[in-house]
Amino acid sequence: MELAEVNNIGTYGLLAGLALFLLAIGRYFFLAGLAYLVCYYPGWKSLQRFKIQPKDPSRIQIRHELRYSLSTALIFSAIGILVLLLYLNGYTTLYTNPSEHGWAYLLLTLACMIVFHDAYFYWTHRLLHTPWLFRKIHSVHHRSVNPTPWAAYAFHPLEALLEALVVFPIITVFPVHLGIFILFTFIVVLMNVLGHLGFEFMPETFRNGKGSWLTSSTHHNLHHQLFHWNYGYYFTWWDRWLKTLRMR
Ligand SMILES: [Zn+2]
Ligand SMILES: [Zn+2]
Repeated sequence: MELAEVNNIGTYGLLAGLALFLLAIGRYFFLAGLAYLVCYYPGWKSLQRFKIQPKDPSRIQIRHELRYSLSTALIFSAIGILVLLLYLNGYTTLYTNPSEHGWAYLLLTLACMIVFHDAYFYWTHRLLHTPWLFRKIHSVHHRSVNPTPWAAYAFHPLEALLEALVVFPIITVFPVHLGIFILFTFIVVLMNVLGHLGFEFMPETFRNGKGSWLTSSTHHNLHHQLFHWNYGYYFTWWDRWLKTLRMR
């Protein structure tokens, strides 16, 4: 391989890495930042009655959430580069022509990804709550007892890596449209920001989890307050089946 060719590959790799980092950090800052502006600072006064915990989060807590979120964005972009390399070299089941498997299949795969991720998150989260792993790794995330949207990415680097690994079975086991895969990663961040919002805007049936199979901001806020309850991500199914669902 010519030196110029190697240099070109290096430049493209660097640009792709930078683009993926900007995408990871950009969507975090956009979604968490928007939620923070609306709810916290400056925050809409009329929304304050929806606050889950009355106490305001400290600046030290927010700095901690931001610092760890930056390291998570770096890890997510490294995983993104690996996904891109696997895709470009034909090692994934990602495809780009939506009509290849039909439009209904696109929706079906999105639903499957969400259900699979929900199970993956529940069980890895339970694992992270075993005493040694909690002390060494997951306590970083739980330092926010009253989380803000900035906590959405606030993980120990090893936890960020563990959570990011979910993409590999998704892009290798069954055909997934590239656009649907990117949409799925946006839904993951959106749900994470909602879980750490600290404000609850949903009706009572969503809020208490008892009448709903969907999780809510209150569901995950209680996880941060009580530690050993409410491990789910999108759905309350696993918490219900394993009797770890706790609502007010
Ligand atoms: Zn936890
Ligand atoms: Zn959390």
